[in-house]
Amino acid sequence: MTYQTINPYTNEVVATFPDATKEEVEAAIAAAHEAFLSWRETAFSTRTAFLAKAAELLRADKRRYAELLTLEMGKVIAEAEAEVDLSADILQYYADQGGSLLETVTVPVAYAAEGEVEIVSEPLGVLLSVEPWNFPYYQVVRVAAPQLLAGNTILLKHASNVPQAAAMFDDLFARAGLPAGAFQNLYLPHELTEYVINDPRVRGVALTGSEEAGSIIASYAAKAVKKSTLELGGADAFVVLKDADIDKTVDWAVFGRYWNAGQVCVSAKRIIVVDEVFDEFLEKFRAGVAALKTGDPMDPKTTLAPMSSQGAADKLAGQVTEAVAGGAKAETLGDPVPSVGAFFQPTILTGMGPKNPSYYEEFFGPVAIVIRVKDEAEAIAVANDSPFGLGGSVFTKDTKNGERVARKIDTGMVYVNHPTMVKADIPFGGVKHSGYGHELTNLGIQEFINKKVIDVVDINAAF
Ligand code: NAP
Repeated sequence: MTYQTINPYTNEVVATFPDATKEEVEAAIAAAHEAFLSWRETAFSTRTAFLAKAAELLRADKRRYAELLTLEMGKVIAEAEAEVDLSADILQYYADQGGSLLETVTVPVAYAAEGEVEIVSEPLGVLLSVEPWNFPYYQVVRVAAPQLLAGNTILLKHASNVPQAAAMFDDLFARAGLPAGAFQNLYLPHELTEYVINDPRVRGVALTGSEEAGSIIASYAAKAVKKSTLELGGADAFVVLKDADIDKTVDWAVFGRYWNAGQVCVSAKRIIVVDEVFDEFLEKFRAGVAALKTGDPMDPKTTLAPMSSQGAADKLAGQVTEAVAGGAKAETLGDPVPSVGAFFQPTILTGMGPKNPSYYEEFFGPVAIVIRVKDEAEAIAVANDSPFGLGGSVFTKDTKNGERVARKIDTGMVYVNHPTMVKADIPFGGVKHSGYGHELTNLGIQEFINKKVIDVVDINAAF
C-alpha cells in the first residue's frame, strides 16, 4: 500500500490507505462518465453556485483545512492558510467568470465561406488529473475549478503522501453541491494509470509533477491519442541587475528560494547576480538565509518547514554531494535543524558551472545556487542555459529595462521585481522541459474544450 500520511515533522506514520483495485477504478470511470452526461447539460448558474459554495466552505474552515496540509507535507501553518485562501480564490474566480469564458463565437464570413459559422465550446468528458504534493489543494483546484465549470468531470490521482488532502475534495465538493461521480479521488496505483487513460470515456489527462512522470503519462496519452497538459519542474533564474534595490531584492530571494521549504516548481533556484553587486548581495543573502527558523511547522515563529518526506531530504542531500564532487562549494547556514523529522540544513551552492553535471538539475528543497556573471547579457545567457523553461524574475529599478530583459528569457512566466506572482487571475505554464499547456484564467479552461464548428448553410450554396 503506497498511500500514507507520514508527518514530516516527526516522520511518524499517521494513516495508511489501500490502493484502488481494478474493479474500483472501472466503477469510478463509469460513474464519472455517467455524471458527465448530465453535468455537461447543467446550467452555468448551477455550476458557478457549486464553485462559489466550495470557496465559501474552504474559507469558513480555513484553519482545519490548513492543519491537514501541515500534517501531511509539513508546510508552515501560515503558508498552509495562504494556500487555502489561494485555492478559494481560484474557485471564486471561475464562479465569477461563469460561462463568459466559453461563449459561442460567430465567425465573420468575409472570404470564401458560406452560411452562419459558429464556434461552440463543449466539454470533452472525463479527465484524469495527476497532481503533486507540494501544494496539495492549489494544484488540484487549478484543474478542477475550470474543468468542472466547463462541464468536464474529474478523476483525481494525487501524490501518495497526501491521501487525506486528496480525499478532502470528495467531501468538500459533495457538500458544495457537486453531483456524485463528477469528481472522485482515486488511490490509483501507478500500474493502473495507463488503463485509465486508455478507456475511451477518459478524454484527457492533466499532470503536474516531475519531468520523469510527465513524460511517462504523456506517452500513455499520446499512444491513446488523447490531449495532455504537463506542468513540470523548473530551475527558475532570479536575475539581479546592477541597479537593483539590494536589500529588498535579498528579502525576495530568501523568500523566493526558501518558502514551502524550497519545494516550489517556480522557486528562485538559480540566483544570477551581476558582478558589481555580487559581493554585497551574497553577504546579505547569507544573513537572510541564516536567520530562517526551523522547528514545528505549527509554530507561527517557524519560517523554514521540514521537507515533505525523509526520502525527499535524502535525495536532495545526494544531489548536494554530487554537486560538490562536480566542483561546487556548499555552505550550510543557520542554527542546526532538528535531528528528528525531514529537515534539511539551508544551503547555498556557489562555484556551479556548466561543466558540473549537477548544473542542469532541479534542486527541489532549501538549496540556493548563486551564480556570478559579468553583466546583463551574460545573466540572460545563463538564465537561458537550462533545459527548463518555467518561470523567472528580474530585479532592477529600471522596470522598462526589466521588461526588456524579461522578454529575452526563454520561459513561460517572468516577473519584474517579484520572485513569482502566483495568483488566481494570472495564467501559469512553462516551455521546454517544464511542459506544455496552461492552467488558470481563460487559458486554463480552454485546454480541455472541443472548439466545435457549426456552419448553417443555404442548401443552394455553391460547392
Ligand atoms: P512526481 O514524482 O512526478 O509526482 C507527481 C504525481 O505524478 C504524483 O501524483 C505521482 O504519484 C504521480 N506519478 C509519478 N510517477 C507516476 C507513474 N509512473 N504513473 C502514474 N503516476 C505517477 O513529482 P513530485 O516529486 O511529487 O513533485 C515535484 C515535481 O513537480 C518537481 O519537479 C516540481 O517542479 C514539479 N511541479 C511542477 C509544477 C508546475 O506547475 N509546473 C507545480 C508543482 C510541482 P505518486 O506519489 O504515487 O508517485
